[in-house]
Amino acid sequence: MTVNLLGLVRQELNAFCQDLGEKPFRAKQIMHWMHQSGVCDFAAMSDISKLLRERLGGLACIKGPKVIQDSIALDGTRKWLIDVGTGNAIETVFIPESTRGTLCVSSQAGCALECTFCSTGRQGFNRNLSAAEIIGQLWWANQCLGAFGSEERVISNVVMMGMGEPLANFDNVVKALQLMLDDDAYGLSRRRVTLSTSGLVPAMDRLREECPVALAVSLHAPNDALRNQLVPINRKYPIRELFAACLRYIEKAPRDFVTFEYVLLDGVNDTLAHARELVETVKPVPCKINLIPFNPFANAGYERSKPEAVSRFRDVLLQAGLVTTVRKTRGDDIAAACGQLAGQVKDKTRRVQRRALVQTTPFIPIKVVAM
Ligand code: SAH
Ligand code: SF4
Repeated sequence: MTVNLLGLVRQELNAFCQDLGEKPFRAKQIMHWMHQSGVCDFAAMSDISKLLRERLGGLACIKGPKVIQDSIALDGTRKWLIDVGTGNAIETVFIPESTRGTLCVSSQAGCALECTFCSTGRQGFNRNLSAAEIIGQLWWANQCLGAFGSEERVISNVVMMGMGEPLANFDNVVKALQLMLDDDAYGLSRRRVTLSTSGLVPAMDRLREECPVALAVSLHAPNDALRNQLVPINRKYPIRELFAACLRYIEKAPRDFVTFEYVLLDGVNDTLAHARELVETVKPVPCKINLIPFNPFANAGYERSKPEAVSRFRDVLLQAGLVTTVRKTRGDDIAAACGQLAGQVKDKTRRVQRRALVQTTPFIPIKVVAM
């Protein structure tokens, strides 16, 4: 079987070249070709000897994702559906804004953590993505957006907020992060790469040691009783332990705060009392709060909070001095908004139903800064 070089981090590619009797700088050249020029044919690597190119062609490949659908929303948000085999698909979303371009990357096909308001969680767990499949999403987006070789940074930020729990696929996610940060690959700053987790405490500690990028934590409730219901992993790592891990993380993080994400569910966690309790709960942790109006999907069993409830909730936090933003809903006409990613390939009926549902959902006209 040929090895896909796309997912190899620098040390692995060095070792690969060494095994061929080549110098480590060959690895650097190959990385440039793959990740900075978007080349996937060894024959086009003009600064590498013909002999080595031929050997590479026999032993290795550079294989991007198999994209089966490309949708563009009215607001310019773009979503790619990627076939990962055995009837499963994952999704990658590009969100263009005036000052930046953000790519939302998936780490798993499905998710085992079963947060009750999340479409990916409903779908269950299928499998971890390989490092090549994770970094392949960035590679593909650069390819498709014409970003390779462009002067301008089309994709300036990456958020690990697509399908799956990134820390549950630790090794492959860290490899992909290392490639995102490597100057010979994508050269993004740690501050512009954000990993979102539902709170896998031991893995947060590992990330702090191995690859500290900006951190977002899915909090979603001001107390353990409610969080146990919404984010079941809380039963294993309750808020007190989660916050202790956040404080440890901040010591090494590229930013001196953690972002707490809080999805607003009508009547469930969005009352004035919840907002006041949240203010008290988060006090121990230097943080910013990112409120996410719930994005509906078929049979979700939750409703999006009313716009007045969103503003009221936000105002309580702001008045308490917490930096608070409301995430702008992007791409919901193509089911590309947070939590709507389900990667359905087979079940078209549900997709159509979901679209119909999404389209009747009012857009919340609050101007906000996304993460
Ligand atoms: N598994 C990781 C990252 C992926 S989800 C995590 O849970 O943090 C990215 C964000 O979208 C998380 O904060 C998640 O809780 C939120 N989310 C999930 N379902 C949602 C929905 N239906 N509407 C709005 N946000 C949702
Ligand atoms: Fe998994 Fe995150 Fe969805 Fe929870 S919110 S089920 S952790 S993808």
